[in-house]
Amino acid sequence: MDHQAPAIVALIGRPNVGKSTLFNRITRSRKAIVDPTPGVTRDRHYERVLWKDRPFILVDTGGIDDNPNDEMVTTIRGQALAAIDEADVILFLMDGKQGLLPADFEVIELLRRVSKKVLYVINKIDGPEQEQELLAPFYELGVEPLWVVSAEHKYGFPTLMDGLVDALPEETAPLDLPENTIRLAFLGRPNVGKSSMINLLLGEDRMVVSPVSGTTRDSVDTLLSHKERNYLLIDTAGIRRKGKTTEKLEKFSILKALAALGRCDIAVVLLDAEEGITEQDAKIIGYTQDHGRALILLLNKWDLVADDRKRQQQMLEEIGRAVPFVGFAPLLSVSAKTGYGFKRLFPTAGSVHRQFTATFPTAALNRLLGDAVEHHSPPIYKNKRLKFYYTTQIGTAPPTFVIMSNSSKGVHFSYERYLTNRFREGLGLDRVPIRLIFKDKS
Ligand code: GDP
Ligand code: GDP
Repeated sequence: MDHQAPAIVALIGRPNVGKSTLFNRITRSRKAIVDPTPGVTRDRHYERVLWKDRPFILVDTGGIDDNPNDEMVTTIRGQALAAIDEADVILFLMDGKQGLLPADFEVIELLRRVSKKVLYVINKIDGPEQEQELLAPFYELGVEPLWVVSAEHKYGFPTLMDGLVDALPEETAPLDLPENTIRLAFLGRPNVGKSSMINLLLGEDRMVVSPVSGTTRDSVDTLLSHKERNYLLIDTAGIRRKGKTTEKLEKFSILKALAALGRCDIAVVLLDAEEGITEQDAKIIGYTQDHGRALILLLNKWDLVADDRKRQQQMLEEIGRAVPFVGFAPLLSVSAKTGYGFKRLFPTAGSVHRQFTATFPTAALNRLLGDAVEHHSPPIYKNKRLKFYYTTQIGTAPPTFVIMSNSSKGVHFSYERYLTNRFREGLGLDRVPIRLIFKDKS
């Protein structure tokens, strides 16, 4: 488990300089985090990457921000500004074959004035023989060093990656959290009320044990104790900067979520009761499940719809439709403004955490499996009846069970769902994600 958020690396540059090619080249070297949740569409513009054991999140800012109606200079300027604000390291890609264009100069001027780590990368140098001729104009820029690469043919690639990893912020020492601390990451679109909610939770008689500063770059963690339990609240709202458009912030709020997910137990995703659930919300919720996190949904700003029964009903239906894969997640309607409902968060987190970390004896699991199979016979697969031999728990957070069978391939989605439901019921795991892994007995 990560103890700090992975760094964010932004890839910027004009159209056609090779950003997506480099993005694909880098992400192909990544180690998959966990199995993707079915039904969750992956956004190809950011991926978690592991290079020499250092994790980071790579963003193809071009992919996020491209707007065909904008002029190129406007687009790339926007990318650069967002990257300057939100990323830890910037890869500024230029086109070695085409040379420098005015848009490049403009961005370099911007980048030079900030203290962010920037790697100036010349792409499309397809081999050492091309270096001398193609690189000459770039030396005039006076930025050093220049990283020379061919995203397509891999020339210079490992060197660039090592340089990138060196540029990542220093890892901080692991946080010394008291035992049994429940780590809650507050996620959601800008202005949904994350900071307000955290302030509310920190307020009044609750004792703030210590603000944990310097542990991450983009989020502020607070450790607090409440009724003899400790909670680490991870605020992903980030430092507010004036004059930034909500739209741009929104695109990066997903990254903040991704970065925080690695180090929380429970993702607390806030939704806006007035606006209802958006595609962006669904994406963030999908990511929480890709990471196997427990989940609590807060329907915030409930004060704005408190008198509107019809709207409430409609919204609950919308949520069910938009994220059917998290039917287990407790949904609390709250108002960070009036304080309505927020007191339920801690007890809910406690019960979710109990389930999330519960362990079960193998004998009980096998009885449960036996009963389930007896109740509803497994299907025939390739002329043979599917057989299950035994099951055991191999992990917690999320509770994970391995089930040995004569043919794991024969376990279709519907039977898997049946077993999952039986495990949930039989083990009292109704509020958390669980995983069943089917394996062949050799
Ligand atoms: P983006 O618009 O910045 O994302 O650029 P793309 O990744 O789509 O690449 C634009 C074009 O440049 C494509 O036709 C790529 O095949 C080509 N390209 C990308 N990298 C290289 C490279 O290293 N060498 C050469 N010769 N062509 C490349
Ligand atoms: P964040 O960007 O997610 O941290 O959102 P903030 O906590 O900064 O809240 C954004 C805006 O929404 C602020 O103006 C808050 O006062 C307002 N807000 C937050 N929670 C509520 C709520 O429950 N009801 C209402 N009416 N407004 C809220």
